[in-house]
Amino acid sequence: MELSEAAQKHFNDHNGDVSLIEMSHHLAAGMKTFMVQSWYFSMDEVRQSLGGAGYSLASGIAQLWIDGSSSATYEGTPVILNQQSAKYLYKQLKAIEKDKTLKGVFTYMNDMQLLLKAKCSATNVTEFLSFKNLTRTLQTRAAFNLQKTWDFFKNPKIAMKVKANELYATLEQKMVRSHISYVMYQQALDYILNHRFTDDKIPELLLLMVKVFAVKQIMLDTQPLYACGYFERGAKKLLDEAFTLVLAELRPHMVPLTEAFTIDAQDFNVIGNKYGDIYELQLETAKASRLNRTAVPPYYEKYMKPTMTMHKAKL
Ligand SMILES: Cc1cc2nc3c(=O)[nH]c(=O)nc-3n(C[C@H](O)[C@H](O)[C@H](O)COP(=O)(O)OP(=O)(O)OC[C@H]3O[C@@H](n4cnc5c(N)ncnc54)[C@H](O)[C@@H]3O)c2cc1C
Repeated sequence: MELSEAAQKHFNDHNGDVSLIEMSHHLAAGMKTFMVQSWYFSMDEVRQSLGGAGYSLASGIAQLWIDGSSSATYEGTPVILNQQSAKYLYKQLKAIEKDKTLKGVFTYMNDMQLLLKAKCSATNVTEFLSFKNLTRTLQTRAAFNLQKTWDFFKNPKIAMKVKANELYATLEQKMVRSHISYVMYQQALDYILNHRFTDDKIPELLLLMVKVFAVKQIMLDTQPLYACGYFERGAKKLLDEAFTLVLAELRPHMVPLTEAFTIDAQDFNVIGNKYGDIYELQLETAKASRLNRTAVPPYYEKYMKPTMTMHKAKL
């Protein structure tokens, strides 16, 4: 939103210069696609993680899905938006070939050849999880996809439409996705590092979430990293260990994180709500249940109740 306003102002102040509008279009189209696709699959992970409660209409998950899934269609479908986003990248790649230097989140594209020659230097999980390594890894993957796609797309003998629709559509989609995942990571990191938070604990937790995002994104497609020789034997093990570690660190924060963001439908669901009183409500509902109006069976005290306090597997 801020970028689009800045782009509009730049256009007005600079005699109709569209360069910022072009960049804003590239980011908005790519990010919209990235977000709706990630959201769609993440929502199913959420549903499955909640077991039967997630399936139940009362959980609100189905409603969120119904409300949100249309966003993959209106205001542009993913394939088309990524095609639009890609055009700006081709323009930047052309500019690099004319010795121009890119700025901001595109700076890494100036060093694509260097990135593609380097190897992952992390030898243990701590090194792997450093922001220096995560940044380099996401940049290298994006650089590989950019170079590979550009090598095909710069061929002037084939019409753009044929290249985009018939020959290299999947490469182009992958290129935009890997670039945008890096941009989102970098922007989040820059924001957290440069923002003043009132509570010192918040940036720590947000940086952890950025690490989870980065590692998960890398895990989704490691093939380019092996293809350019950046990843070698053992990298997958390091990646798996890194993911296990960040998830273990994130786990104790999951309930507060879930309840930190208000979703209207949560007022009515069984998982949590913005007032934080869902557990009291559940207890009241359980106590008022008609199951509690009949006599307690004799085996309850002897066999069932102790299982609640024995602190080990019930089966
Ligand atoms: C809930 C909802 C609200 C909407 N609100 C509005 C509104 O307020 N105003 C309005 O004007 N419109 C609105 N729309 C319409 C919406 O913008 C279009 O549905 C959308 O742009 C997709 O166009 P389409 O339905 O013609 O699908 P198509 O363009 O036929 O797309 C079908 C599939 O083909 C793919 N495809 C299409 N062209 C290509 C290509 N060249 N190469 C490769 N793949 C391709 C698409 O990615 C998609 O997967 C709304 C749609 C929905 C679902």
